[in-house]
Amino acid sequence: MSAVLLDLTEDDLKALCQFWQKRFKLDAWDIVLEVVPARDIPEEDAHISYSSHQRTATLQLADDLSTLEEIHEMVVHELLHLFFFFIEPKTVEHTLEEQAVHTIAPVIAELHMKSKDPTKPW
Ligand SMILES: [Zn+2]
Repeated sequence: MSAVLLDLTEDDLKALCQFWQKRFKLDAWDIVLEVVPARDIPEEDAHISYSSHQRTATLQLADDLSTLEEIHEMVVHELLHLFFFFIEPKTVEHTLEEQAVHTIAPVIAELHMKSKDPTKPW
């Protein structure tokens, strides 16, 4: 990871990702977090690619996210895709999954921001 977001260090972002990874019980996964130029993931604020066999994933965050809540939302969003894959690999239809994740992630991020010290990522 070369870039950082807002005033978060690389370690902060790693901790933020690990926090949600634990909450969603995705401990079996080896997840690498990367901050990438926004133009590298056009029309998206974040992206996840994974190998289900190896249980490895790369979660990319666009470098133009502007709030901590947005960062939480994007990490939660992408990890939820991993979660849905993990529990229902074949039965969740993609667009329905996207709609569900798109609805759930901002609610989780908003509640998290309200319940925690917003100056800390976790
Ligand atoms: Zn999505």
